[in-house]
Amino acid sequence: MHAVGRWETPATEALRVREGFDLAAFDRRSTPGWSGDKTTAKAALAEQGDRLSELQEKLFAHGRSGGDRSVLLVLQGMDTAGKGGIVRHVIGTVDPQGVALRSFGVPTPEEREHHYLWRIREALPRPGYIGVFDRSHYEDVLVVKVEQLVPADEVERRYDEIRSFEDEVVASGTRVVKVALMVSLDEQAQRLRERLERPDKHWKYNPGDIDARERWPLYQEAYQVALERTATDTAPWYVVPADRKWYARLAVGALLLDALQGLDLDWPEADVDVAAELRRLEASHPEG
Ligand code: AMP
Ligand code: MG
Repeated sequence: MHAVGRWETPATEALRVREGFDLAAFDRRSTPGWSGDKTTAKAALAEQGDRLSELQEKLFAHGRSGGDRSVLLVLQGMDTAGKGGIVRHVIGTVDPQGVALRSFGVPTPEEREHHYLWRIREALPRPGYIGVFDRSHYEDVLVVKVEQLVPADEVERRYDEIRSFEDEVVASGTRVVKVALMVSLDEQAQRLRERLERPDKHWKYNPGDIDARERWPLYQEAYQVALERTATDTAPWYVVPADRKWYARLAVGALLLDALQGLDLDWPEADVDVAAELRRLEASHPEG
């Protein structure tokens, strides 16, 4: 065991959105629940990766043997909040074979012809998989609300619709973990500057990021409302401070680990007569 660096309060407790949650007062450099520093977090992250990897394999095996469980990690956050880093450093610790990753951008002409949840349903993880949404149906009450892409009463209707949709997803066997990565305005400026100053980061830069930044208060308000209206017992929201990347990664890993552990899966029983197969193996003569 590590003497330093541990969860004093589990991430699921420390980060969960509850009644009265106030995003405006949320410290984006804080490290809720974690007692250690960056160095201990990195060690913990590696250890966590091993555990995630084993549980993911169990989930995959469960799916292969007819089980119906899956996990869906929803990642939301403003540009530069670190969604991509979570995918690379947290999801990256498990076998890519068992991951179904989907990024949601501006709807394509085909997507636009359907209900906004259509593309989301299509992307839900099949049994045995960890689904990861890099942005999600929440864009339909965030950017869509801020940019007034649909009438206000339609946005208003969507919160309830999303709640019932998620209830349905959970009832079908999927554990839903919703994560909002919250970066500060200052840290975002630094990260955007880096994207402009470093040739290896230019590809990440999008002029639209500044437009969204200009509407920061409106986005924060839209997040506050979305969190309040859609944090449920079946599909909870966790708000993760994202100014320290090491913390955000450790925290999201811990949330994912909790979800996988919560499935309480065992290795599936062999569907063959193991002893008989062993005898066949011993008796086999491939050399002919
Ligand atoms: P990125 O994730 O940085 O590749 O950017 C994707 C962009 O697509 C972001 O600016 C999102 O706000 C935008 N986007 C995602 N979903 C929607 C949606 N339903 N309607 C409009 N814009 C969206
Ligand atoms: Mg972007």
